[in-house]
Amino acid sequence: MDLPVQDVLRPRSLREALRVLADHPGARPVAGGTDLVVQLRDGRRQAELLVDLSRVGLDGITETDRGIAIGAGTTMDVIATHRAVRTHFPALATAASQVGAWPIQCRATLGGNLANASPAADTAPALLVAGAAVTVASARGQSQLPLEELFVGPGRTSLRSNELIVSVLLPVSRTGAGRRLVERFVKVGPRREQIISVVCMAGRVVVAADGRLELVRLAFGSVAPTPVRARATERLLERRVLDDRLRQEALGVVQEDVKPIDDVRAPASYRRLAVATLLDRFLAEVARG
Ligand SMILES: Cc1cc2nc3c(=O)[nH]c(=O)nc-3n(C[C@H](O)[C@H](O)[C@H](O)COP(=O)(O)OP(=O)(O)OC[C@H]3O[C@@H](n4cnc5c(N)ncnc54)[C@H](O)[C@@H]3O)c2cc1C
Repeated sequence: MDLPVQDVLRPRSLREALRVLADHPGARPVAGGTDLVVQLRDGRRQAELLVDLSRVGLDGITETDRGIAIGAGTTMDVIATHRAVRTHFPALATAASQVGAWPIQCRATLGGNLANASPAADTAPALLVAGAAVTVASARGQSQLPLEELFVGPGRTSLRSNELIVSVLLPVSRTGAGRRLVERFVKVGPRREQIISVVCMAGRVVVAADGRLELVRLAFGSVAPTPVRARATERLLERRVLDDRLRQEALGVVQEDVKPIDDVRAPASYRRLAVATLLDRFLAEVARG
């Protein structure tokens, strides 16, 4: 396939990759290429030079005192099947297992899913409810930012052209005696497999021994220019015991909270209904225990 690119460089270390990006403002990193190659071919993105990240060593999952660190170059199939991810962040494992079909999952990376900044990126809501922070590097050093600050608009991030996502940190919280963690990811589309979401949702709730919802995090994809947290709905539910009345109230609040958009894939009215339905099902699971 002919791509409108002058050259491809294959650095062998992060340092070398960052130096190339610093020296060539027209360069663009490529990881699995499952988004970028299609966009270059269709003329939706431009790059004079591609910087192939596949030999830079950004892949792998490590468990540390601070949580689970997932390298930006880790592919979806690795994330979906990793024991600690499945235990502590089941919504992320499910989201990763639903990014395209298996051949795509074996190439598609976490860093690429986030840096591509699609409002429909499946891992984004799951990472938002996990309280993820993104480690970003340039030739000048590294910094960390909350994931929400990465997304600026459809296809746009706060990254500069000389910066790379290095890893994503997920803080592991101990649920403690008598507490219960409920975490889910669900996506809605025209069919079950191989679709870009029309709406997707991740929810993370910790239920205390006395039945109160101690922590509530809800995030939606494909409803707004960026993946979003439903903060007013979270505030409504937090520290309360879930009953039918509270559940109904939450279904009303969430539709205002995320203000779904109209686009080619669905009208706002459909998305409002889908958002309320997904939340209703999630809260039913929380109530069931
Ligand atoms: C058939 C098909 C089905 C798909 N289905 C889904 C789906 O169901 N859900 C979904 O969410 N996505 C889906 N996608 C989109 C895509 O597979 C994912 O977004 C994937 O995770 C992108 O990762 P990548 O490594 O291929 O990124 P690339 O295409 O290599 O890069 C994507 C963007 O990220 C930048 N980038 C890559 N790595 C870094 C880094 N470390 N730091 C900074 N910038 C970086 C690139 O410059 C580029 O702008 C699908 C794609 C295809 C072709």
